[in-house]
Amino acid sequence: MGSAIAIHWFRHDLRLADNPALSAADARGRVVPVVIDDPALEAAHPPGSAFAWWRDRSRAALDRALGGALRVLRGDPATLLTDLATRHGASLVTWTRAYEPWTIARDTAVKAALKARGLSVESHNGALLWEPWETVKPDGAPYLVFTPFFRRGCLGAAQPRRPLPAPRLDPVPRAGDEPGVTTRSEAPWERKLARHWQIGEAAAKAALARFVEERLAGYAKGRDFPALSHTSRLSPHLAHGEISPNAVWHAVEGAGPAQDVASFRAELGWREFCAHQLFHFPDLPEAPLRPEFAAMPWREDAEALAAWQQGRTGVPLVDAGMRELWQTGYMHNRVRMVVASFLTKNLLIDWRAGARWFADCLVDHSPASNAASWQWVAGSGLDAAPYFRIFNPAIQAAKFDPEGTYIRRFVPELAPLPDRWIGAPWTAPETVLARAGLRLGRDYPRPIVDLAASRERALAAWHALRGNV
Ligand code: FAD
Repeated sequence: MGSAIAIHWFRHDLRLADNPALSAADARGRVVPVVIDDPALEAAHPPGSAFAWWRDRSRAALDRALGGALRVLRGDPATLLTDLATRHGASLVTWTRAYEPWTIARDTAVKAALKARGLSVESHNGALLWEPWETVKPDGAPYLVFTPFFRRGCLGAAQPRRPLPAPRLDPVPRAGDEPGVTTRSEAPWERKLARHWQIGEAAAKAALARFVEERLAGYAKGRDFPALSHTSRLSPHLAHGEISPNAVWHAVEGAGPAQDVASFRAELGWREFCAHQLFHFPDLPEAPLRPEFAAMPWREDAEALAAWQQGRTGVPLVDAGMRELWQTGYMHNRVRMVVASFLTKNLLIDWRAGARWFADCLVDHSPASNAASWQWVAGSGLDAAPYFRIFNPAIQAAKFDPEGTYIRRFVPELAPLPDRWIGAPWTAPETVLARAGLRLGRDYPRPIVDLAASRERALAAWHALRGNV
């Protein structure tokens, strides 16, 4: 720690360890920690409800780790940071770089304004293993396909930086008139989410350690089975920056069978690929990357959209996933793919409607990963699943939830059905339904679409689209 004063502006880097921008502030002097809610940015890109719930709790955890020194301000960041620097005599402002085009534009303006007022400003990478400009092709163009992106662009570049230790901070205490973290009583839906998660940097570290110890071995196969909990569930911790991707990347080194380590690191690679796409294609959340998809005849069907959102489509794996999302703020990756395919193909509803619902409900919402993944499933994105590959949710259930454990967890009204029928109750003989005491259409909906007919409808729409190209 030097002798001067430096401000660290926390954003989606709510941690002390492996936070290069925070360490740079600490190297300059005593740190004034601050978070800022920027109404202009929020008006254009409002944080989702579940994401904001997590963020507020994570800020509270960070504040505790900082001994109550975290300032929580609301307003124009350039003005607030200038005032804070004047008040505390700070000469440096640091932050962790973000890569969404709208945040880059805001940060560039803030940096210029602070520099014009004589302050030094440093931004550092603490959110990605490789920054988007480091992973381009030799000619400077972005990779459009995952495998060469990851093999050549990422693994062919420098090894990800080793994580830094947490600095031994002595933050400048908050004065009585500087607003800090406030707690409010939680709504019932928030209390429901809270039952599923431990939030904050210490919890993120513990979740990583548990994953490495208990679930890394077998990850490559186990990651596809939603009932097994074989994945790390680190996504919300990564989205809020409670842990760095570098800490995660290096923690698995030599810690499990090589194929499991490689498979897990490839998923971290997908996270990078999504960030890379949003950086290079700023329209990713709004417009299909394959322009022919702009003419897709998406259906307006508010009733079907509501049934999908509320987990009452009558298709058990879809309903289980949508209820997992509603109850926990999270959904297993395989099921995210199934519910997204069902919406965009069987229901022929625009992927943007699905992405908006996910953005509001996910505790791990990432504008890059969400938009890129929706476009991937819808067939309009980079290196996407072809549109004609339409998941059959009943077959997916038989393959990846063969004993119906996941479906029973989230759709308990189907619990008495034998495993064989639980993924497709409409195919069960009447005697089986009667024995299980299940009346389709009363205790559980009949499917809102016929899977085979809606598949044909989707394929016809796609063929017509291709005919127009
Ligand atoms: P693990 O399997 O343990 O993977 C480790 C980490 O790698 C994850 O925490 C995540 O950061 C990253 N990762 C894993 N799979 C992917 C992937 N396919 N794409 C990008 N990164 C990945 N992920 C988000 O973090 N935020 C989102 O908003 C988001 N929206 C999605 C929307 C759809 C339609 C789909 C199909 C996927 C979406 N994903 C999103 C990706 C993926 O489903 C989650 O990252 C994963 O389920 C998180 O669980 P985990 O931490 O246990 O993953």
